[in-house]
Amino acid sequence: LNQRIDRPFGIDRSEFGDRMYFLFTAVVVVVIAAVVYQIGKGKLGGMWRFVAFSERGTAAAGTKVRNAKLSAFGVSAFIGGLAGGLTVGQIGQVSSVSFQTGGSLGLFVLCIVVGAHFIDMAFFGAILFVFVPEILKQFGLPLEWANVVFGVLGVQALTSNSTLGDQIRSGLRKLKRHGATAQPVSAHLEEVDLERTSAIFTTTGQPLLEVKNVTVRFGELRALDDVSLTVYDREVVGLIGPNGAGKSTMIDTITGFLTDYEGTITLDGKPMEGLAPDRRAHEGIRRTFQQDRVPSSMTVGQYMRLMAHGKSTPTEIDEILSYFGCPPAHTPLRVVDVGSRRIVEVAANVASKPVVLLLDEPAAGLSHDEHIVFGNQLKKIPQKYGISVLLIEHDLDLVRSVCSKLVVLNFGGVLASGNQAEVLRDPEVLKAYMGEKVGE
Ligand code: ADP
Ligand code: MG
Repeated sequence: LNQRIDRPFGIDRSEFGDRMYFLFTAVVVVVIAAVVYQIGKGKLGGMWRFVAFSERGTAAAGTKVRNAKLSAFGVSAFIGGLAGGLTVGQIGQVSSVSFQTGGSLGLFVLCIVVGAHFIDMAFFGAILFVFVPEILKQFGLPLEWANVVFGVLGVQALTSNSTLGDQIRSGLRKLKRHGATAQPVSAHLEEVDLERTSAIFTTTGQPLLEVKNVTVRFGELRALDDVSLTVYDREVVGLIGPNGAGKSTMIDTITGFLTDYEGTITLDGKPMEGLAPDRRAHEGIRRTFQQDRVPSSMTVGQYMRLMAHGKSTPTEIDEILSYFGCPPAHTPLRVVDVGSRRIVEVAANVASKPVVLLLDEPAAGLSHDEHIVFGNQLKKIPQKYGISVLLIEHDLDLVRSVCSKLVVLNFGGVLASGNQAEVLRDPEVLKAYMGEKVGE
């Protein structure tokens, strides 16, 4: 094993010696950095950022979490392999001493400390990795101390949940300050004129999403108890009910995040049983989440393209963004406030042109004025984009103005369902949903 390994011809020791090898390595590093930078800007990079931020969000967008992770692993392993080869060429022999656990761990921690997903920080980390031991050597301290230093910095980075790269970037942003935040959606309060839009879809009255006798148990608790509901072609159905009634569980079940349920779910007559969330997303069931799952490391446009999976052209994406009053495509999502980000999430799912869109309290972060505007936009989604909507919403004014039909859940069971006006007059519903407000 301790055989001497010669460098390949052209970069061998004889002619130019180590200087040439250093240059060769530097060129490889620059090429790799350029390629990684390109990948980071592209679709694959977007997928990686998304899966690092939220696996559920990734799956809901129709991307296989496994593929996203495997491709990241494959590319990293390839680069690691190259680096290993270069190291062997440098030392001139293969030896496990060059790749010991402690050293690898130190390097890994250093990557976390500096934020090695930023390319400049990766270079900075490499410099630290070389120079900290050198400095220790100067002072006659044992080299193991370098790992202790990295370890302490690593604990600091993990507890503060921010890397050196993040800190430097946010510091620079504060210095610049101007253009710091995007306009919230309320900046676009004008009404949308449906007559001017190109296509107007009309309902065929066909049942599209059919949920039949679904029961979900969490131990003793029946989060859903024999629930049936139908969303017909191009209508907005409201799913309402008090907190804990099972609304989010219903969406998790329809979208395939909860696999353990009794009953059947069909989309356009096709059974969804046994299909993973990303498959159901491809079939045309898309959702938004009650919690923010929009990765702040992307721009609005990158996120829209990633979510749309090529189903919308750039022009259509811009049109959808402006329809929902979202910030323009080049805006970084980190400067978009949480309420508006939820609307961007809705817009991105519309851009994927699903059959049904399930919205879990999309208006939760909006002001009252924004609520009204959003309601108007929501109401027209079926006609404008040909998409049916199942909407979870607490604001009964919004529900009244947007939904044609309602399903009311209470303690996991269907309390009432049918036409909106009838359901909202039902005394049982008033009692369960508004509690003490009955009799007002
Ligand atoms: P809603 O969205 O209507 O407010 P949820 O669907 O989130 O309600 O929750 C319905 C019920 O199921 C609640 O009682 C909740 O505590 C319970 N629940 C939800 N998810 C889980 C889980 N993963 N494990 C155990 N119980 C859960
Ligand atoms: Mg919920």
